Amino acid sequence: MRQALAKLKRATIIDAKTIREFNKDLQKALLSSDVNVKLVLEFTKKLERQVLESKLPAGVAPRDYITNMVYEGLVELMGESYSPTFEKQRIMLLGLYGAGKTTTAAKIARFYQNRGLGALIICCDTQRPAAYEQLESLAKSSNIAFYGEKGERNPAKIVRNALAKYPEKQVVVCDTAGRNALDSELIEEAKRIASEFKPDSKMLVISADMGQTAGEQAARFREAVGIDGIIVTKMDGSGKGGGALSAAHASGAKVKFITTGEKLSDITPYDSEKFIGNLLGIPDIGSLVEKVQEAISEANVNPDEVDVNELNFETFYSQLKAMSKMGPLKNIFGMLGASDVPKDVIDSGEEKLKKDKVIISSMTPEERRNERLLHQPGRVARIAKGSGMEEKDVHQLISDFNKMKKLFNSLKNDRSLKRKFGGMSF
Ligand code: GDP
Ligand code: MG
Repeated sequence: MRQALAKLKRATIIDAKTIREFNKDLQKALLSSDVNVKLVLEFTKKLERQVLESKLPAGVAPRDYITNMVYEGLVELMGESYSPTFEKQRIMLLGLYGAGKTTTAAKIARFYQNRGLGALIICCDTQRPAAYEQLESLAKSSNIAFYGEKGERNPAKIVRNALAKYPEKQVVVCDTAGRNALDSELIEEAKRIASEFKPDSKMLVISADMGQTAGEQAARFREAVGIDGIIVTKMDGSGKGGGALSAAHASGAKVKFITTGEKLSDITPYDSEKFIGNLLGIPDIGSLVEKVQEAISEANVNPDEVDVNELNFETFYSQLKAMSKMGPLKNIFGMLGASDVPKDVIDSGEEKLKKDKVIISSMTPEERRNERLLHQPGRVARIAKGSGMEEKDVHQLISDFNKMKKLFNSLKNDRSLKRKFGGMSF
């Protein structure tokens, strides 16, 4: 994806052909992460339509704009980040054999204990003989309270005794027995444990190497025992994490944690920014997205009315502001093919921007919409006085404005440029 995005950067022109090529790379990346083919096709089709139909906001480079769209689409596909709450809570883990429940129970308890909440792990796996020792040694290694009863066959009774023995523990994690499949035995046992434990959260533990099939499992657990969260384990292993995440999200349950190794520290709340950033090869996607979204909201003051035909002091200011936010004004004009951009337009810094704003706010609405009025005697002097500026500041602003207007007009009338830009309108 990093290469595909680099290609986009070089392209300088985003037409139908460019976006289709980009989509091919995007499809490959998502498919190799095992995301469902249908979801991938829907996603890229929607992206193509969005890119070709949207207006590029002032001050945003096409590549950044598209990256932001890809990011937003992937968040829709994989789900939003999870922010854990640090309060008293009981967490019950469910899942099939080998999903990673026992390891995850210790990881979660440790996660909360390290953040100041006393944790207790209860072993309710009365099926596997070694379950008790496995969990006990994991708990010991992190100094976490552990409760289990060797030889006891009734997990509900174990829960009752555990809660009676450790009433002060704030985060209580209950590890349960898995099965080969979600059968009636597992469902019955889960219900018996839950009625005694009264969990705040029932989380399904699922291994990432299930890929897309995680979705079906999540949906069935959700129906049978009412899970409200998913933990995807072994995200370090296979390349199927994208498939598992998107399928889990599609099932309607929230992905809360992911685990990425055998060490107890290998657990993090699901962070869409991080995960999608890695998938796209842009680790710092968060700051990019923030910048683009800020520029979009700036430029969207009047999205449909900002038209180069109508460049006036109102639109001039919002464009200047949006552009100065992004910085690469020079690059944008360069990409548009304008070589001789007036330097002082580019260099309008924060200070000048503030000045311009004050001056513009001292104009009457008619003056803001019609620059020619300013040539009438007395108007410049009045504006200077009203804004506490000098007349030469007002003249400077008018001169910047006219340079910008000229530039916009020349771009607008450049037919080859228009052709090149195809679907992407400004
Ligand atoms: P359970 O049967 O659901 O309780 O699963 P376990 O917790 O016993 O884990 C099964 C195996 O998966 C163990 O060998 C774990 O060390 C391993 N495992 C669990 N989580 C992860 C993970 O995030 N990454 C890797 N690489 N291995 C994991
Ligand atoms: Mg286990």
